[in-house]
Amino acid sequence: MGKCASCGQTIFGGVKDGERRFCNARCRNNGRIVAVAAVVPDDVVEALGTQMHSGPCPKCKGPGPVDVHFSYRVWSAFIVTRRISSSQISCRRCGLKTQTGNLIFSTLFGWWGLPWGLVFTPVQVCRNIAAMVSPPDPAAPSAELMRRARIELAARVQQ
Ligand SMILES: [Zn+2]
Ligand SMILES: [Zn+2]
Repeated sequence: MGKCASCGQTIFGGVKDGERRFCNARCRNNGRIVAVAAVVPDDVVEALGTQMHSGPCPKCKGPGPVDVHFSYRVWSAFIVTRRISSSQISCRRCGLKTQTGNLIFSTLFGWWGLPWGLVFTPVQVCRNIAAMVSPPDPAAPSAELMRRARIELAARVQQ
């Protein structure tokens, strides 16, 4: 028994990679990417981050700035309530489109579970609205976008 070096979950068996253990091959690959990501030089990360930020939106191909936009959703069915947090790399318009969709979805489908639907629907709706009204600074790539650029670079090396 041990802990997965990638996702931190307790595992029985799993796969080994040298000294480290992982749940499965997917976690092992993620672990390798994280290890490579740590040694990617900062200036290379910054170059890609800046390029992603000023490039066209990967979703609509429209003009940037492109950054990471978070959105939050909830749905319920009787005693089950599920909260979903997601993020996308896109322009602000595409970000808002997803956030608006999630807002409508949550206000329609979030409530119908007791008790958690009543508790988490306002929470997710508020988090989603907060993300809508405080987008990433358009002037410069966010720390989160830089982090994604770093992982992207590491994943390229890994393939
Ligand atoms: Zn794992
Ligand atoms: Zn877009």
